[in-house]
Amino acid sequence: MTDFKALIKHKNRSVLYISAIILCIDLVFVAFNYYTSQKTLNSTLFQRAETHQNEFNLTLDMTYRNMLQLSTYISNNDELNQLFLAGKKAAEKDGIKSESVAVLRQKLLDKVKVPWDITTEKFDVRQLHYHLGPGSLSYLRVHRPSKFGDRLDNTRFTIVDTNKEKTERSGFETGRIYSGLRGVSPIWTIDPETNRRTYVGAVEAGTSFDQILPLFSKTFKANTAIFLTKEHVQKTMWQQYTNENFKDQSNSKYYLESSSSEGVKTLLAKTPINKDFIKNAVTIIEQGDRYFSSYYFPLFDYRGTKDKTLPPVGFVFVWEDVTPMIKEFRHSFIMNILFFVLAFLIIEVFLLWILGREKKLSIAEREAIIDGLTGLYNRRYYDALITKEKARALKTNRPLSLIICDIDYFKYFNDTYGHLEGDKALKKVAMTIRKIVENYASIAARYGGEEFIIVLPETDRANAIMIADNIRSAVYALNIPHEASLIEAYLTLSLGVSCTHNLIAEQSLIKIADANLYQAKEHGRNRVEPSIR
Ligand code: GH3
Ligand code: MG
Ligand code: MG
Repeated sequence: MTDFKALIKHKNRSVLYISAIILCIDLVFVAFNYYTSQKTLNSTLFQRAETHQNEFNLTLDMTYRNMLQLSTYISNNDELNQLFLAGKKAAEKDGIKSESVAVLRQKLLDKVKVPWDITTEKFDVRQLHYHLGPGSLSYLRVHRPSKFGDRLDNTRFTIVDTNKEKTERSGFETGRIYSGLRGVSPIWTIDPETNRRTYVGAVEAGTSFDQILPLFSKTFKANTAIFLTKEHVQKTMWQQYTNENFKDQSNSKYYLESSSSEGVKTLLAKTPINKDFIKNAVTIIEQGDRYFSSYYFPLFDYRGTKDKTLPPVGFVFVWEDVTPMIKEFRHSFIMNILFFVLAFLIIEVFLLWILGREKKLSIAEREAIIDGLTGLYNRRYYDALITKEKARALKTNRPLSLIICDIDYFKYFNDTYGHLEGDKALKKVAMTIRKIVENYASIAARYGGEEFIIVLPETDRANAIMIADNIRSAVYALNIPHEASLIEAYLTLSLGVSCTHNLIAEQSLIKIADANLYQAKEHGRNRVEPSIR
Protein backbone atom coordinates (compact mmCIF):
# COMPACT_ATOMS: atom_id res chain seq x y z
CA MET A 1 0.00 0.00 0.00
CA THR A 2 1.05 3.61 -0.18
CA ASP A 3 2.22 3.57 3.44
CA PHE A 4 4.43 0.64 2.75
CA LYS A 5 5.91 2.17 -0.40
CA ALA A 6 6.56 5.39 1.48
CA LEU A 7 8.36 3.41 4.18
CA ILE A 8 10.63 1.66 1.65
CA LYS A 9 11.24 4.95 -0.13
CA HIS A 10 12.10 6.57 3.16
CA LYS A 11 14.55 3.80 4.00
CA ASN A 12 16.14 4.00 0.53
CA ARG A 13 16.56 7.71 1.01
CA SER A 14 18.10 7.20 4.45
CA VAL A 15 20.64 4.82 2.97
CA LEU A 16 21.39 7.42 0.31
CA TYR A 17 21.91 10.11 2.96
CA ILE A 18 24.07 7.85 5.11
CA SER A 19 26.14 6.89 2.05
CA ALA A 20 26.57 10.56 1.15
CA ILE A 21 27.67 11.38 4.70
CA ILE A 22 30.13 8.46 4.75
CA LEU A 23 31.45 9.52 1.36
CA CYS A 24 31.91 13.08 2.63
CA ILE A 25 33.71 11.84 5.75
CA ASP A 26 35.82 9.61 3.51
CA LEU A 27 36.71 12.53 1.26
CA VAL A 28 37.54 14.72 4.26
CA PHE A 29 39.82 11.97 5.56
CA VAL A 30 41.53 11.57 2.19
CA ALA A 31 42.00 15.34 1.91
CA PHE A 32 43.24 15.59 5.50
CA ASN A 33 45.57 12.67 4.95
CA TYR A 34 46.93 14.24 1.78
CA TYR A 35 47.35 17.59 3.47
CA THR A 36 49.19 16.24 6.53
CA SER A 37 51.48 13.91 4.60
CA GLN A 38 52.26 16.69 2.13
CA LYS A 39 53.06 18.91 5.09
CA THR A 40 55.26 16.24 6.64
CA LEU A 41 57.07 15.72 3.35
CA ASN A 42 57.63 19.45 2.92
CA SER A 43 58.86 19.93 6.45
CA THR A 44 61.19 16.92 6.14
CA LEU A 45 62.63 18.37 2.94
CA PHE A 46 62.88 21.78 4.55
CA GLN A 47 64.72 20.33 7.55
CA ARG A 48 67.16 18.64 5.20
CA ALA A 49 67.67 21.93 3.38
CA GLU A 50 68.34 23.72 6.68
CA THR A 51 70.79 21.01 7.65
CA HIS A 52 72.56 21.56 4.33
CA GLN A 53 72.70 25.25 5.10
CA ASN A 54 74.39 24.52 8.45
CA GLU A 55 76.79 22.09 6.79
CA PHE A 56 77.59 24.68 4.18
CA ASN A 57 78.30 27.35 6.79
CA LEU A 58 80.53 24.92 8.65
CA THR A 59 82.39 24.17 5.42
CA LEU A 60 82.89 27.90 4.88
CA ASP A 61 84.20 28.37 8.42
CA MET A 62 86.61 25.49 8.01
CA THR A 63 87.81 26.92 4.71
CA TYR A 64 88.41 30.35 6.26
CA ARG A 65 90.38 28.71 9.04
CA ASN A 66 92.45 26.78 6.51
CA MET A 67 93.18 29.93 4.55
CA LEU A 68 94.13 31.76 7.75
CA GLN A 69 96.42 28.90 8.76
CA LEU A 70 98.17 29.19 5.40
CA SER A 71 98.48 32.97 5.44
CA THR A 72 99.68 32.88 9.06
CA TYR A 73 102.29 30.28 8.20
CA ILE A 74 103.55 32.32 5.25
CA SER A 75 103.47 35.55 7.25
CA ASN A 76 105.94 34.02 9.69
CA ASN A 77 108.57 33.19 7.08
CA ASP A 78 111.11 35.89 7.80
CA GLU A 79 113.11 35.39 4.60
CA LEU A 80 109.99 36.23 2.60
CA ASN A 81 109.13 39.06 4.97
CA GLN A 82 112.54 40.64 4.52
CA LEU A 83 112.12 40.60 0.71
CA PHE A 84 108.64 42.11 1.12
CA LEU A 85 110.04 44.84 3.41
CA ALA A 86 112.82 45.65 0.93
CA GLY A 87 110.18 45.87 -1.82
CA LYS A 88 108.02 48.14 0.32
CA LYS A 89 110.95 50.50 0.96
CA ALA A 90 111.88 50.54 -2.73
CA ALA A 91 108.28 51.31 -3.64
CA GLU A 92 108.18 54.19 -1.17
CA LYS A 93 111.37 55.52 -2.70
CA ASP A 94 110.99 54.79 -6.45
CA GLY A 95 107.30 54.03 -6.88
CA ILE A 96 105.48 50.72 -7.09
CA LYS A 97 106.13 50.33 -10.82
CA SER A 98 109.84 51.00 -10.63
CA GLU A 99 112.55 48.67 -11.79
CA SER A 100 114.03 48.32 -8.31
CA VAL A 101 110.69 47.10 -7.00
CA ALA A 102 110.34 44.75 -9.97
CA VAL A 103 113.62 43.04 -9.07
CA LEU A 104 112.56 42.61 -5.45
CA ARG A 105 109.07 41.40 -6.44
CA GLN A 106 110.64 38.82 -8.72
CA LYS A 107 112.89 37.64 -5.88
CA LEU A 108 109.87 37.20 -3.62
CA LEU A 109 108.03 35.43 -6.39
CA ASP A 110 110.94 33.07 -7.04
CA LYS A 111 111.02 32.09 -3.39
CA VAL A 112 107.33 31.54 -3.01
CA LYS A 113 106.10 30.35 -6.40
CA VAL A 114 107.20 26.70 -6.41
CA PRO A 115 105.82 25.75 -2.97
CA TRP A 116 102.66 27.75 -3.72
CA ASP A 117 102.11 26.03 -7.07
CA ILE A 118 102.51 22.64 -5.42
CA THR A 119 100.05 23.61 -2.67
CA THR A 120 97.64 24.91 -5.29
CA GLU A 121 97.74 21.72 -7.22
CA LYS A 122 97.39 19.43 -4.25
CA PHE A 123 95.17 21.27 -1.83
CA ASP A 124 92.65 23.39 -3.68
CA VAL A 125 94.04 26.84 -2.99
CA ARG A 126 94.25 29.52 -5.62
CA GLN A 127 95.40 32.95 -4.61
CA LEU A 128 98.44 34.22 -2.75
CA HIS A 129 98.58 37.97 -2.71
CA TYR A 130 100.92 40.44 -0.97
CA HIS A 131 99.41 43.86 -0.23
CA LEU A 132 100.88 47.07 1.10
CA GLY A 133 99.06 49.40 3.47
CA PRO A 134 97.47 51.67 4.35
CA GLY A 135 94.35 50.61 2.52
CA SER A 136 95.35 48.02 -0.06
CA LEU A 137 97.99 48.42 -2.73
CA SER A 138 98.59 45.22 -4.69
CA TYR A 139 102.29 44.29 -4.37
CA LEU A 140 102.45 40.74 -5.73
CA ARG A 141 99.80 38.35 -7.04
CA VAL A 142 101.64 35.04 -7.00
CA HIS A 143 98.78 33.56 -9.04
CA ARG A 144 99.02 36.39 -11.60
CA PRO A 145 102.39 38.19 -11.19
CA SER A 146 101.87 40.48 -14.17
CA LYS A 147 99.04 42.31 -12.35
CA PHE A 148 100.23 44.58 -9.56
CA GLY A 149 100.29 48.15 -8.37
CA ASP A 150 96.50 48.64 -8.35
CA ARG A 151 94.65 49.95 -5.33
CA LEU A 152 91.95 47.77 -3.81
CA ASP A 153 90.90 50.20 -1.07
CA ASN A 154 87.22 49.99 -2.01
CA THR A 155 86.90 46.30 -2.71
CA ARG A 156 89.20 44.27 -0.48
CA PHE A 157 88.09 45.17 2.99
CA THR A 158 89.79 42.14 4.59
CA ILE A 159 93.10 43.66 3.47
CA VAL A 160 92.18 47.22 4.38
CA ASP A 161 91.14 46.11 7.87
CA THR A 162 94.22 43.92 8.39
CA ASN A 163 96.50 46.77 7.38
CA LYS A 164 94.60 49.08 9.69
CA GLU A 165 94.18 46.89 12.76
CA LYS A 166 97.25 44.73 12.11
CA THR A 167 95.29 41.59 12.97
CA GLU A 168 94.15 38.74 10.75
CA ARG A 169 90.86 38.71 8.85
CA SER A 170 88.94 36.13 6.87
CA GLY A 171 85.82 35.95 4.72
CA PHE A 172 84.34 35.80 1.27
CA GLU A 173 85.25 38.68 -0.99
CA THR A 174 85.09 39.46 -4.67
CA GLY A 175 88.34 40.88 -5.95
CA ARG A 176 89.41 42.37 -9.24
CA ILE A 177 90.06 38.97 -10.75
CA TYR A 178 88.30 36.33 -8.64
CA SER A 179 85.79 35.93 -5.92
CA GLY A 180 87.46 34.07 -3.13
CA LEU A 181 87.31 32.63 0.33
CA ARG A 182 90.19 34.32 1.98
CA GLY A 183 92.43 34.42 5.02
CA VAL A 184 94.59 37.54 5.53
CA SER A 185 97.48 37.87 7.98
CA PRO A 186 99.59 40.89 8.97
CA ILE A 187 103.33 40.76 8.23
CA TRP A 188 105.83 42.06 10.73
CA THR A 189 109.60 41.87 10.55
CA ILE A 190 112.77 43.44 11.98
CA ASP A 191 113.91 46.38 9.90
CA PRO A 192 117.68 45.75 9.45
CA GLU A 193 118.29 49.50 9.26
CA THR A 194 116.66 50.41 12.56
CA ASN A 195 116.71 46.98 14.17
CA ARG A 196 113.13 47.55 15.18
CA ARG A 197 110.05 45.39 14.63
CA THR A 198 108.13 47.01 11.87
CA TYR A 199 104.82 46.44 10.09
CA VAL A 200 105.18 45.67 6.35
CA GLY A 201 101.73 44.75 4.96
CA ALA A 202 99.34 41.85 4.58
CA VAL A 203 99.50 38.48 2.90
CA GLU A 204 96.38 36.80 1.72
CA ALA A 205 95.73 33.13 0.90
CA GLY A 206 92.51 32.34 -0.90
CA THR A 207 90.55 29.61 -2.55
CA SER A 208 87.41 29.63 -4.61
CA PHE A 209 83.98 27.99 -4.47
CA ASP A 210 85.01 25.85 -7.46
CA GLN A 211 87.40 24.10 -5.11
CA ILE A 212 85.04 23.47 -2.22
CA LEU A 213 81.62 22.84 -3.82
CA PRO A 214 82.43 19.40 -5.31
CA LEU A 215 83.86 18.32 -1.98
CA PHE A 216 80.81 19.61 -0.14
CA SER A 217 78.41 17.86 -2.53
CA LYS A 218 80.27 14.61 -2.27
CA THR A 219 80.31 14.68 1.52
CA PHE A 220 76.80 15.96 2.20
CA LYS A 221 74.97 14.49 -0.79
CA ALA A 222 73.48 17.81 -1.88
CA ASN A 223 74.29 19.88 -4.92
CA THR A 224 75.22 23.51 -4.44
CA ALA A 225 75.76 26.55 -6.59
CA ILE A 226 76.81 30.10 -5.84
CA PHE A 227 75.05 32.98 -7.56
CA LEU A 228 76.27 36.56 -7.28
CA THR A 229 74.21 39.66 -7.92
CA LYS A 230 75.23 41.67 -10.95
CA GLU A 231 75.55 44.86 -8.88
CA HIS A 232 78.07 43.21 -6.60
CA VAL A 233 80.20 41.85 -9.44
CA GLN A 234 80.10 45.13 -11.37
CA LYS A 235 81.21 47.06 -8.27
CA THR A 236 84.20 44.83 -7.54
CA MET A 237 85.56 42.94 -10.52
CA TRP A 238 87.50 44.31 -13.48
CA GLN A 239 85.34 44.23 -16.61
CA GLN A 240 87.82 42.01 -18.43
CA TYR A 241 87.55 39.37 -15.72
CA THR A 242 83.78 39.74 -15.45
CA ASN A 243 83.56 38.85 -19.14
CA GLU A 244 86.03 36.02 -18.69
CA ASN A 245 84.54 34.53 -15.52
CA PHE A 246 80.86 34.84 -16.49
CA LYS A 247 81.01 34.05 -20.17
CA ASP A 248 77.58 33.86 -21.90
CA GLN A 249 75.83 35.02 -18.72
CA SER A 250 75.13 38.64 -19.63
CA ASN A 251 71.43 37.83 -20.10
CA SER A 252 70.92 36.02 -16.82
CA LYS A 253 69.64 37.78 -13.75
CA TYR A 254 72.44 36.47 -11.52
CA TYR A 255 76.01 35.44 -12.28
CA LEU A 256 76.70 31.78 -11.66
CA GLU A 257 79.99 31.89 -9.74
CA SER A 258 80.29 28.17 -9.23
CA SER A 259 78.26 24.98 -9.28
CA SER A 260 78.90 21.50 -8.02
CA SER A 261 77.10 19.95 -10.98
CA GLU A 262 75.27 20.63 -14.21
CA GLY A 263 71.66 21.60 -14.67
CA VAL A 264 71.42 24.29 -12.03
CA LYS A 265 70.11 26.93 -14.41
CA THR A 266 66.96 24.99 -15.33
CA LEU A 267 66.25 24.36 -11.65
CA LEU A 268 66.89 28.00 -10.78
CA ALA A 269 64.43 29.06 -13.51
CA LYS A 270 61.76 26.91 -11.85
CA THR A 271 62.46 28.22 -8.34
CA PRO A 272 60.89 31.54 -7.39
CA ILE A 273 63.68 33.69 -5.92
CA ASN A 274 62.80 36.13 -3.13
CA LYS A 275 64.37 39.56 -3.11
CA ASP A 276 66.25 39.06 0.16
CA PHE A 277 67.19 35.47 -0.78
CA ILE A 278 65.49 34.19 2.37
CA LYS A 279 63.30 31.17 1.91
CA ASN A 280 61.29 29.17 4.42
CA ALA A 281 60.20 26.24 2.31
CA VAL A 282 61.67 24.10 -0.41
CA THR A 283 60.43 24.11 -3.99
CA ILE A 284 59.68 20.72 -5.48
CA ILE A 285 60.51 20.55 -9.16
CA GLU A 286 59.47 17.81 -11.57
CA GLN A 287 61.95 17.21 -14.36
CA GLY A 288 61.30 14.27 -16.65
CA ASP A 289 60.84 11.31 -14.37
CA ARG A 290 62.89 12.87 -11.54
CA TYR A 291 61.94 15.17 -8.68
CA PHE A 292 64.23 17.77 -7.12
CA SER A 293 63.85 19.90 -4.04
CA SER A 294 65.52 23.30 -4.26
CA TYR A 295 66.36 25.81 -1.58
CA TYR A 296 68.55 28.84 -1.21
CA PHE A 297 69.91 31.21 1.41
CA PRO A 298 71.73 34.53 1.27
CA LEU A 299 75.49 34.81 0.86
CA PHE A 300 77.18 37.73 2.62
CA ASP A 301 80.69 38.86 1.88
CA TYR A 302 83.24 39.89 4.52
CA ARG A 303 81.75 43.37 4.77
CA GLY A 304 78.19 42.10 4.90
CA THR A 305 78.96 39.78 7.82
CA LYS A 306 80.35 42.77 9.74
CA ASP A 307 77.75 45.33 8.75
CA LYS A 308 74.26 43.82 8.96
CA THR A 309 72.70 46.73 7.07
CA LEU A 310 74.48 45.70 3.86
CA PRO A 311 72.57 43.48 1.42
CA PRO A 312 73.73 39.96 0.55
CA VAL A 313 76.09 39.73 -2.42
CA GLY A 314 74.29 36.69 -3.78
CA PHE A 315 72.85 33.39 -2.65
CA VAL A 316 73.71 29.77 -2.17
CA PHE A 317 71.44 27.46 -4.15
CA VAL A 318 71.05 23.92 -2.82
CA TRP A 319 69.23 21.09 -4.54
CA GLU A 320 68.69 17.40 -4.06
CA ASP A 321 67.27 14.58 -6.09
CA VAL A 322 64.28 13.54 -3.95
CA THR A 323 62.67 11.15 -6.44
CA PRO A 324 62.49 8.16 -4.05
CA MET A 325 60.82 10.26 -1.34
CA ILE A 326 58.24 11.76 -3.71
CA LYS A 327 57.50 8.36 -5.24
CA GLU A 328 57.03 6.90 -1.78
CA PHE A 329 54.71 9.78 -0.91
CA ARG A 330 52.62 9.26 -4.07
CA HIS A 331 52.51 5.54 -3.48
CA SER A 332 51.28 5.85 0.09
CA PHE A 333 48.70 8.42 -1.00
CA ILE A 334 47.34 6.07 -3.65
CA MET A 335 47.27 3.27 -1.07
CA ASN A 336 45.31 5.57 1.23
CA ILE A 337 42.76 6.33 -1.45
CA LEU A 338 42.41 2.62 -2.21
CA PHE A 339 41.96 1.91 1.46
CA PHE A 340 39.24 4.55 1.79
CA VAL A 341 37.47 3.35 -1.35
CA LEU A 342 37.56 -0.19 -0.02
CA ALA A 343 36.28 0.91 3.39
CA PHE A 344 33.50 2.85 1.69
CA LEU A 345 32.51 -0.16 -0.44
CA ILE A 346 32.47 -2.46 2.58
CA ILE A 347 30.25 -0.03 4.50
CA GLU A 348 27.97 0.32 1.47
CA VAL A 349 27.62 -3.44 1.02
CA PHE A 350 26.84 -3.74 4.73
CA LEU A 351 24.24 -0.97 4.53
CA LEU A 352 22.57 -2.51 1.48
CA TRP A 353 22.52 -5.88 3.20
CA ILE A 354 20.77 -4.35 6.21
CA LEU A 355 18.32 -2.55 3.93
CA GLY A 356 17.59 -5.78 2.03
CA ARG A 357 16.95 -7.58 5.29
CA GLU A 358 14.62 -4.84 6.47
CA LYS A 359 12.79 -4.92 3.16
CA LYS A 360 12.25 -8.66 3.54
CA LEU A 361 10.98 -8.16 7.07
CA SER A 362 8.67 -5.39 5.90
CA ILE A 363 7.31 -7.57 3.10
CA ALA A 364 6.52 -10.32 5.62
CA GLU A 365 4.84 -7.77 7.88
CA ARG A 366 2.87 -6.47 4.95
CA GLU A 367 1.75 -9.90 3.83
CA ALA A 368 0.34 -10.53 7.29
CA ILE A 369 -2.15 -7.66 6.98
CA ILE A 370 -2.71 -7.15 3.24
CA ASP A 371 -4.98 -9.16 0.98
CA GLY A 372 -2.95 -10.65 -1.82
CA LEU A 373 -5.52 -10.26 -4.60
CA THR A 374 -6.94 -6.80 -4.05
CA GLY A 375 -4.16 -5.04 -2.11
CA LEU A 376 -6.71 -3.94 0.50
CA TYR A 377 -6.26 -4.76 4.20
CA ASN A 378 -7.29 -8.30 5.06
CA ARG A 379 -9.84 -9.63 7.50
CA ARG A 380 -7.26 -10.05 10.26
CA TYR A 381 -6.32 -6.39 10.05
CA TYR A 382 -9.97 -5.39 10.02
CA ASP A 383 -10.71 -7.41 13.16
CA ALA A 384 -7.94 -5.70 15.11
CA LEU A 385 -8.89 -2.30 13.74
CA ILE A 386 -12.61 -2.46 14.49
CA THR A 387 -11.98 -3.50 18.11
CA LYS A 388 -9.68 -0.50 18.54
CA GLU A 389 -12.03 1.93 16.79
CA LYS A 390 -15.08 0.74 18.72
CA ALA A 391 -13.30 1.26 22.04
CA ARG A 392 -12.19 4.70 20.94
CA ALA A 393 -15.67 5.70 19.74
CA LEU A 394 -17.19 4.58 23.04
CA LYS A 395 -14.59 6.44 25.04
CA THR A 396 -14.80 9.68 23.06
CA ASN A 397 -18.50 9.37 22.30
CA ARG A 398 -17.75 10.14 18.67
CA PRO A 399 -19.61 8.50 15.77
CA LEU A 400 -18.18 5.41 14.08
CA SER A 401 -19.69 3.95 10.90
CA LEU A 402 -19.31 0.72 8.96
CA ILE A 403 -20.16 -0.18 5.37
CA ILE A 404 -20.41 -3.74 4.10
CA CYS A 405 -20.40 -4.24 0.32
CA ASP A 406 -21.22 -7.37 -1.62
CA ILE A 407 -21.04 -7.76 -5.39
CA ASP A 408 -24.37 -8.66 -6.91
CA TYR A 409 -24.73 -11.97 -8.65
CA PHE A 410 -21.03 -12.57 -8.63
CA LYS A 411 -21.42 -16.29 -8.80
CA TYR A 412 -23.12 -15.79 -12.17
CA PHE A 413 -20.34 -13.45 -13.20
CA ASN A 414 -17.76 -16.15 -12.58
CA ASP A 415 -19.95 -18.66 -14.35
CA THR A 416 -20.25 -16.39 -17.38
CA TYR A 417 -16.75 -14.90 -17.72
CA GLY A 418 -14.60 -17.34 -15.79
CA HIS A 419 -12.78 -17.10 -12.51
CA LEU A 420 -9.87 -15.04 -13.89
CA GLU A 421 -12.19 -12.34 -15.20
CA GLY A 422 -13.90 -12.53 -11.81
CA ASP A 423 -10.59 -11.80 -10.11
CA LYS A 424 -9.96 -8.84 -12.41
CA ALA A 425 -13.37 -7.42 -11.63
CA LEU A 426 -12.72 -7.90 -7.90
CA LYS A 427 -9.50 -5.88 -8.22
CA LYS A 428 -11.21 -3.08 -10.09
CA VAL A 429 -13.96 -2.86 -7.52
CA ALA A 430 -11.40 -2.91 -4.67
CA MET A 431 -9.41 -0.10 -6.28
CA THR A 432 -12.52 2.00 -6.74
CA ILE A 433 -13.50 1.52 -3.12
CA ARG A 434 -10.00 2.41 -1.90
CA LYS A 435 -9.84 5.64 -3.92
CA ILE A 436 -13.09 6.92 -2.46
CA VAL A 437 -12.38 5.77 1.06
CA GLU A 438 -8.94 7.41 1.17
CA ASN A 439 -10.59 10.80 0.79
CA TYR A 440 -12.41 10.27 4.08
CA ALA A 441 -9.55 9.03 6.24
CA SER A 442 -11.35 5.69 6.33
CA ILE A 443 -10.01 2.19 5.86
CA ALA A 444 -11.29 -0.51 3.49
CA ALA A 445 -10.65 -4.25 3.91
CA ARG A 446 -11.58 -7.38 2.03
CA TYR A 447 -14.04 -9.05 4.33
CA GLY A 448 -14.45 -12.31 2.46
CA GLY A 449 -14.88 -13.63 -1.11
CA GLU A 450 -16.51 -10.71 -2.96
CA GLU A 451 -17.35 -8.74 0.16
CA PHE A 452 -15.62 -5.58 1.37
CA ILE A 453 -15.90 -3.73 4.63
CA ILE A 454 -15.15 -0.08 5.33
CA VAL A 455 -14.43 1.43 8.74
CA LEU A 456 -15.30 5.14 8.95
CA PRO A 457 -14.13 6.77 12.19
CA GLU A 458 -15.62 10.14 13.10
CA THR A 459 -18.33 9.63 10.48
CA ASP A 460 -22.02 9.85 11.26
CA ARG A 461 -24.80 7.84 9.72
CA ALA A 462 -25.79 10.36 7.02
CA ASN A 463 -22.25 10.80 5.82
CA ALA A 464 -21.61 7.06 5.86
CA ILE A 465 -24.71 6.53 3.68
CA MET A 466 -23.50 9.26 1.32
CA ILE A 467 -20.07 7.65 1.04
CA ALA A 468 -21.66 4.23 0.52
CA ASP A 469 -23.76 5.62 -2.29
CA ASN A 470 -20.66 7.22 -3.86
CA ILE A 471 -19.05 3.80 -3.87
CA ARG A 472 -22.11 2.20 -5.35
CA SER A 473 -22.36 4.66 -8.20
CA ALA A 474 -18.60 4.61 -8.83
CA VAL A 475 -18.63 0.81 -9.18
CA TYR A 476 -21.60 0.99 -11.48
CA ALA A 477 -19.77 3.66 -13.49
CA LEU A 478 -16.94 1.18 -14.08
CA ASN A 479 -19.28 -0.33 -16.67
CA ILE A 480 -18.02 -3.87 -16.16
CA PRO A 481 -20.36 -5.90 -18.36
CA HIS A 482 -22.39 -8.46 -16.43
CA GLU A 483 -24.70 -10.27 -18.84
CA ALA A 484 -25.87 -12.72 -16.23
CA SER A 485 -26.99 -10.08 -13.76
CA LEU A 486 -30.68 -10.21 -13.15
CA ILE A 487 -30.91 -6.44 -12.54
CA GLU A 488 -28.38 -4.53 -14.69
CA ALA A 489 -26.17 -4.88 -17.74
CA TYR A 490 -23.14 -3.96 -15.60
CA LEU A 491 -21.54 -5.18 -12.41
CA THR A 492 -23.23 -3.69 -9.33
CA LEU A 493 -22.74 -3.53 -5.58
CA SER A 494 -25.15 -3.75 -2.68
CA LEU A 495 -24.15 -1.94 0.51
CA GLY A 496 -25.28 -2.04 4.11
CA VAL A 497 -24.42 0.80 6.49
CA SER A 498 -24.39 0.99 10.27
CA CYS A 499 -23.40 3.65 12.76
CA THR A 500 -22.66 3.64 16.51
CA HIS A 501 -25.58 6.10 16.89
CA ASN A 502 -28.06 3.34 16.10
CA LEU A 503 -26.23 0.70 18.14
CA ILE A 504 -28.83 -1.22 20.10
CA ALA A 505 -28.00 -3.17 23.24
CA GLU A 506 -26.60 -6.60 22.21
CA GLN A 507 -26.46 -5.90 18.51
CA SER A 508 -23.02 -5.10 17.20
CA LEU A 509 -22.15 -2.69 14.44
CA ILE A 510 -21.39 -5.51 12.01
CA LYS A 511 -24.66 -7.26 12.62
CA ILE A 512 -26.65 -4.16 11.74
CA ALA A 513 -24.56 -3.49 8.64
CA ASP A 514 -24.99 -7.09 7.60
CA ALA A 515 -28.74 -6.91 8.17
CA ASN A 516 -28.86 -3.73 6.09
CA LEU A 517 -26.89 -5.41 3.32
CA TYR A 518 -29.42 -8.19 3.36
CA GLN A 519 -32.13 -5.54 3.08
CA ALA A 520 -30.36 -4.00 0.11
CA LYS A 521 -30.29 -7.35 -1.61
CA GLU A 522 -33.90 -7.87 -0.76
CA HIS A 523 -34.90 -4.46 -2.07
CA GLY A 524 -33.46 -5.12 -5.51
CA ARG A 525 -29.64 -4.81 -5.20
CA ASN A 526 -27.42 -2.04 -6.61
CA ARG A 527 -28.46 0.03 -3.62
CA VAL A 528 -27.53 1.24 -0.14
CA GLU A 529 -29.50 0.45 3.01
CA PRO A 530 -30.56 2.47 4.83
CA SER A 531 -31.13 4.44 1.65
CA ILE A 532 -30.75 8.23 1.38
CA ARG A 533 -34.03 9.83 2.10
P1 GH3 B 1 -25.72 -12.18 -4.44
O1 GH3 B 1 -24.57 -11.77 -3.58
O2 GH3 B 1 -26.07 -11.08 -5.37
O3 GH3 B 1 -26.81 -12.75 -3.72
O4 GH3 B 1 -25.19 -13.29 -5.42
P2 GH3 B 1 -23.79 -13.96 -5.47
O5 GH3 B 1 -23.68 -14.76 -6.66
O6 GH3 B 1 -22.78 -12.90 -5.37
O7 GH3 B 1 -23.87 -14.85 -4.21
P3 GH3 B 1 -22.75 -15.46 -3.26
O8 GH3 B 1 -22.31 -14.45 -2.28
O9 GH3 B 1 -23.37 -16.67 -2.71
O10 GH3 B 1 -21.62 -15.84 -4.19
C1 GH3 B 1 -20.31 -15.31 -4.07
C2 GH3 B 1 -19.48 -15.80 -5.19
O11 GH3 B 1 -18.33 -15.07 -5.30
C3 GH3 B 1 -19.06 -17.22 -4.96
C4 GH3 B 1 -17.69 -17.31 -5.56
O12 GH3 B 1 -17.67 -18.01 -6.80
C5 GH3 B 1 -17.37 -15.89 -5.86
N1 GH3 B 1 -16.09 -15.62 -5.29
C6 GH3 B 1 -15.73 -15.53 -3.98
N2 GH3 B 1 -14.41 -15.21 -3.85
C7 GH3 B 1 -13.91 -15.10 -5.12
C8 GH3 B 1 -12.67 -14.82 -5.68
O13 GH3 B 1 -11.69 -14.60 -4.97
N3 GH3 B 1 -12.53 -14.76 -7.04
C9 GH3 B 1 -13.61 -15.00 -7.86
N4 GH3 B 1 -13.42 -14.92 -9.18
N5 GH3 B 1 -14.77 -15.27 -7.37
C10 GH3 B 1 -14.98 -15.35 -6.02
MG1 MG C 1 -21.30 -12.84 -0.88
MG1 MG D 1 -22.61 -11.52 -3.86
